[in-house]
Amino acid sequence: MPELPEMETCRRLLTEKLVRKVITDVEVNREKSINAQPAQFKSQLINVQITEIQRRAKHLIFKLNSGKNLLLHLMLGGWMYIGSEADNPDRTKQVIISFGDIKLYFIGLRLGYLHLLTDAEAEEALSGLGPEPLDHTLGFPAFHELIGSRRGMLKTTLVNQQFLSGIGNCYSDEICFEAGLLPMKKADELDEDERKILYQSMKGVLTRAIQFGGYMEEPLFKGDAKTGGYNEQCRVYDREGEPCLRCGSPIVKEEISSRKTFYCGNCQR
Ligand SMILES: [Zn+2]
Repeated sequence: MPELPEMETCRRLLTEKLVRKVITDVEVNREKSINAQPAQFKSQLINVQITEIQRRAKHLIFKLNSGKNLLLHLMLGGWMYIGSEADNPDRTKQVIISFGDIKLYFIGLRLGYLHLLTDAEAEEALSGLGPEPLDHTLGFPAFHELIGSRRGMLKTTLVNQQFLSGIGNCYSDEICFEAGLLPMKKADELDEDERKILYQSMKGVLTRAIQFGGYMEEPLFKGDAKTGGYNEQCRVYDREGEPCLRCGSPIVKEEISSRKTFYCGNCQR
């Protein structure tokens, strides 16, 4: 599932390609992916311009000059492609938004959704989310306080969207590895130094992942050299049995609270 760095990469690329463009057509092939009757959804989008694209956690918010918002969550398996009639993946598209000849395809949007909402409705939909890990207002004192109240394991705490928003399976493992902490370690048992290392690792891993375009490799458009650049940089995620880049021990894969988790049992303590 795309996480914060993947969605931030998407946001930046979509902004370059689509902001200030006018929607000329909308095709809905799966009604469950949207929150209105297709005809109504379409009529509220045609001739409307995207003014800005924001990100909150793993969501994107397309701000429209009609005053409404398109709230997107790709969930598991969802992705997007910017192409044309002649250039698009040979896959089922749940929703297609056209900007003249340019088309934005939503693919694999089965668990995910694209909802047309007012500002107040969008705010309500996002209200349960914890702070953004990279928000500059989330300094160490705030993080220290936040994690001190959690009894769960690091893995389950980091992926809990009410605790911090935007981190999922891949980056929770990468952050624990970077910090040298085992993912099954209890959050409230970390000492001051460990909390500091975890905090710095979280900021460092997510910042670097955004710089490299995230780990998911499906390109957003033809010639997209940015998306997925972080895949080669993952140090434990999806590397079961491969040598740890820090100590050489094989990376272990284990289910923690039914989430696949990768770590080094030797140098993570
Ligand atoms: Zn190791």
